[in-house]
Amino acid sequence: MISCARAPVPGPPVRVTQSSFGKTADRTAVDLYTLRNKNGMEAAIMTYGGIVVSLKTPDRNGNIDDVVLGFDSLDGYLKGHPYFGALIGRYGNRIGKARFTLNGKEYTLAKNNGENHLHGGIKGFDKAVWKGMDIPNSAAIELRYTSKDGEEGYPGTLQATVVYWLTDRDELKIDYTASTDRDTVLNLTNHMYFNLAGAGNGDILGHEMTIFADRFTPVDAGLIPTGELRAVSGTPFDFTQPHLVGERINAADEQIRIGKGYDHNFVLNSGIGTLAQAARVREPRSGRVMEVMTTEPGVQFYTGNFLDGSLRGKGGKVYGARSAFCLETQHFPDSPNKPGFPPVVLRVGERYQSTTVYRFSVQ
Ligand code: BGC
Repeated sequence: MISCARAPVPGPPVRVTQSSFGKTADRTAVDLYTLRNKNGMEAAIMTYGGIVVSLKTPDRNGNIDDVVLGFDSLDGYLKGHPYFGALIGRYGNRIGKARFTLNGKEYTLAKNNGENHLHGGIKGFDKAVWKGMDIPNSAAIELRYTSKDGEEGYPGTLQATVVYWLTDRDELKIDYTASTDRDTVLNLTNHMYFNLAGAGNGDILGHEMTIFADRFTPVDAGLIPTGELRAVSGTPFDFTQPHLVGERINAADEQIRIGKGYDHNFVLNSGIGTLAQAARVREPRSGRVMEVMTTEPGVQFYTGNFLDGSLRGKGGKVYGARSAFCLETQHFPDSPNKPGFPPVVLRVGERYQSTTVYRFSVQ
């Protein structure tokens, strides 16, 4: 007898799961979305700050590790932290003297870094609760946030949307879009702290770094660019060929001294608007490789110089000095006050668009 019973047709694999991650001080509920790809890679992102809470990738032996710094619970983030994994807005990095002029009018921003404005101010996008929505049939999550006119001093009501995609090519891809109802300035990024040996697993001085930039933007004592685009050639900033992060990090160099290591914007050779390779990082012991592609003209290479071991992160691990690095794709710091830098003005009727991809592999 021929049976008519059919094997159940397998449904699409579950790519996104959503769970509660607690409540903020004002009792707003925070959700955690966990994205999975077909190779077992996993990214967990919460609606508070759009923060990448964990990013799990295999090493060359197939052992999965979490490669970003963060905390096990929302509480750790609410107590204060240096932007672990967070979305940064409205303006990634610094605006000198916390002010700029646009259309002939001067705007004063919140001062939260000496006399300067850093990463969007006192309550930047990293502390906002975003509205999360999963995208059907993909390992992706869309986050939306409306930033009110005048927030932290910026003009215009801004509608920002960020989509995190975890692709089957082992990429975490971030698409940023925005529009405004008054001309404003904008520079969105993400502030993940990476350690490709696993978060909390020692320092990152043995990571091998390549940055596709022939120039960088030197800074003054307050880490504000002087406006110069300086050749990296012959300096500790030359990562056009692979160098260990630790090789020249304590060099007798004025810029290294000011940054207490690397804390500088690199001028990418690829320019603006096309997705091109910005950096490649390899961690020799685990074999993990991370490539960064972006449409942005710059990347802030920051070596966790201000981490001091006072923060205990996931699994109680101590996050000591230089235990992670950041590659924050961006327009250059202080661009609103630097006419020579690529412009950061978003005008009414325009659509802000920016994409960055972090691709993982092993070698
Ligand atoms: C800045 C550093 C700052 C760090 C954490 C980086 O983007 O360039 O100077 O300490 O973020 O706030």
